[in-house]
Amino acid sequence: PAYQPNEARYDNMPYRRCGKSGILLPQISLGLWHNFGHDADFKNARTILRTAFDLGITHFDLANNYGPPYGSAEENFGRIMQKDFHALRDELIISTKAGWDMWPGPYGNHGSKKYLIASLDQSLKRMGLDYVDIFYHHRPDPDTPLEETMSALDQIVRQGKALYVGISQYNAEDTAKAIRILKNLGTPLLIHQPRYSMMDRWVEDGLLDVIEQEGVGSIAFSPLEQGILTDKYLKGIPEDSRVAKDGRYLQEEQVKKNISKVKELNEIAKKRGQSMAQMAIAWLLKDERITTVLVGVSRAEQLADNVKAVDNTNFSSEELEAIEKILKD
Ligand code: NDP
Repeated sequence: PAYQPNEARYDNMPYRRCGKSGILLPQISLGLWHNFGHDADFKNARTILRTAFDLGITHFDLANNYGPPYGSAEENFGRIMQKDFHALRDELIISTKAGWDMWPGPYGNHGSKKYLIASLDQSLKRMGLDYVDIFYHHRPDPDTPLEETMSALDQIVRQGKALYVGISQYNAEDTAKAIRILKNLGTPLLIHQPRYSMMDRWVEDGLLDVIEQEGVGSIAFSPLEQGILTDKYLKGIPEDSRVAKDGRYLQEEQVKKNISKVKELNEIAKKRGQSMAQMAIAWLLKDERITTVLVGVSRAEQLADNVKAVDNTNFSSEELEAIEKILKD
């Protein structure tokens, strides 16, 4: 049946301005790293995207190599765009990236202009789009001059293939340099995409200060530590979990190492009237410098759980201290 978007979709989701730009992003965004490749269930993927949009999630995040196989998340997203979101393109912020390995040989990885320009052309074909809203350099490349990578981003915007540009996982110093280069080229940096969660705090050591000073927004990825910061693993390793289904990025040892902390954190979440996942997301959103929290989900129900995080993003100093104590122990 044809998709009829929820008419009330904009009623509950709050939107934050992305740095000092014209763009507002939903406080929760959806990433397509897992569960959208040719290995995944297409119908489930389609339900997740419809649910997201119905909940006011206007931002979908992809990359050239999401799958598996590489490229297949973009292909499936393109099919779903065509079927369900064709008339809704102007209500969406769609991003993709290049920077990790994508195709064989010296031009399918890292940060050269050759790679970035070719990769975005491929991504646009796979998704069936004329342009993306945001194109990212996916990770720093110490062997390519920053000037070259940034000039590729600038060129992509001038060609109309992306409206805005971003960088991911760049440290504070390189971020400041990238911002300066892009400013001089006339294409300001819109957004930084760092890994950030209660358990991974590197951005607090300088990066967030840089982006705040420069008026750049941010989108925090793996906010739930790939599922560790949810109630998913409290009673063992379920069959339908990332750990059990896909051992590439999250292993049982990482869960085991952290689960006693998660149990304690979950008690604080309960007292706040939140699920563990909701508290982990809310904890990031308490900082206004975090424009949006980029979650992944394997089922639409998880998204419905996660979006309720926005109902309470305030923490008392007692709560914050108790959380820090658990994390430090
Ligand atoms: P999360 O930390 O949000 O982990 C997502 C996983 O957590 C889900 O697949 C699901 O696991 C579990 N989960 C989510 N919600 C719930 C819930 N309410 N209850 C129980 N379990 C839940 O993020 P990801 O690691 O998936 O990353 C999110 C996005 O960030 C990616 O899709 C991608 O767009 C981006 N990203 C960017 C990177 C970069 O280098 N720039 C790198 C990595 C990600 P399960 O499958 O077990 O159900």
